Amino acid sequence: MEPPPEVVSQIVARASSPGYDDWWSRVEHAGFCSSPVELRGRDASGRPVTILARCKNRRAAVCPSCSALYSGDTWQLVHRGIAADDSEDNGRPMVFVTLTAPGFGAVHSTSRSGDPCRPGPAARCEHGRSLRCTLIHEASDLRLGEPLCPECYDYFGHVLFTWHAPQLWHRFTVALRRLVQQRAADAVLSYVKVVELQRRGVPHFHAVIRLDDTTALSAADLAALIHRAAASLRLDVLSFGGELVTLRFGSQTDVQPLRITPGEDDDRRVASYLAKYVTKSVADFGLSPRRLSPRAVANLDVRPHVRAILETVLELADSPGPEEMTRWLHTLGYRGHITTKTRAYSTTMGALRAHRAQWRVANGKRVEDERPAPAIRWRFVQVGHRNKGDRLLATTADVAARISRLAAREELACRPDDGLGL
Ligand SMILES: [Zn+2]
Ligand SMILES: [Zn+2]
Ligand SMILES: [Zn+2]
Repeated sequence: MEPPPEVVSQIVARASSPGYDDWWSRVEHAGFCSSPVELRGRDASGRPVTILARCKNRRAAVCPSCSALYSGDTWQLVHRGIAADDSEDNGRPMVFVTLTAPGFGAVHSTSRSGDPCRPGPAARCEHGRSLRCTLIHEASDLRLGEPLCPECYDYFGHVLFTWHAPQLWHRFTVALRRLVQQRAADAVLSYVKVVELQRRGVPHFHAVIRLDDTTALSAADLAALIHRAAASLRLDVLSFGGELVTLRFGSQTDVQPLRITPGEDDDRRVASYLAKYVTKSVADFGLSPRRLSPRAVANLDVRPHVRAILETVLELADSPGPEEMTRWLHTLGYRGHITTKTRAYSTTMGALRAHRAQWRVANGKRVEDERPAPAIRWRFVQVGHRNKGDRLLATTADVAARISRLAAREELACRPDDGLGL
């Protein structure tokens, strides 16, 4: 696609400007971030310095470059917790878990087996809507996740589950830890968890859960305890008008033992699966990843299901509250972290960044300035590139850099000496 003429002239103006090389080196330094933070200061000898720092947004819709970096770091974080560094770790019981929300009403969905959406008898609900859908929806079908009857759909239950999801997860880990310790007092429970917003707009949890320092429990034992902890969990909360409702997880808790066999790719597959989720955002629901004003809801160009969720958040915030629910409209009421992990699970994001900086130095590359030098008093100038032309130059370079990294990786994978016989 051709950029519009004014963007072309911005690019031409930039490329022919005397400061181009300096500017380009700053853009490169910020990893071709599409929304960098511009900072100015003076160095020890009083000379003016300008730097661009990465925006560090994990969402691909906001910044492809920072999102790719974040996703890569998440991959490392998850993978290091799964892959055994030494042989004695190989026996650690470890499982991959998915905890879902319960049903709040029939929605359009796809099945793994490729069956129609909702076969079954041609029944109608009390509002006269058909409860049958014989379509096999494509992954891009906008109807996916939409209720068959919006009036039957329990929007209060949906939003309350979303709002209290962080607490549900917390309670689950407390219950599981207790169950584990009843069987093996010394066992240490570690996990990494990633939250995904399902098509219907409700969060569910994917986690790698591991037991350290025990030989008393197997992965199958751990799986059984997880099922018990998830199934028994109840949380009573106030709903609209002060009515008490009980929240719980859905019945489809999925627990797969992870057996890391040398030569198989289970560890890499699980790490990729989790890393994929962290770059997603609510952009798929037609929302901007930035905070949304309650007044803006009425004029948003979103699907009726998304609008109904947003209106329910507003209603619940009003009665019985808390009012701060309105600050989480842009996340459809989810207020927790996307990724969390226990300290013992693996490394930290900070350690991964430090390691990357060391690697760049060792390989003669300039360190990406992830933290501006503390000796300088920095003054904030702006967020984002000066104009669309600058942004396009940066994002195009980012795409090119990623393609060449991918090509280099594939070339490595295809070397004749790695046993592929090529
Ligand atoms: Zn960025
Ligand atoms: Zn359907
Ligand atoms: Zn109905």
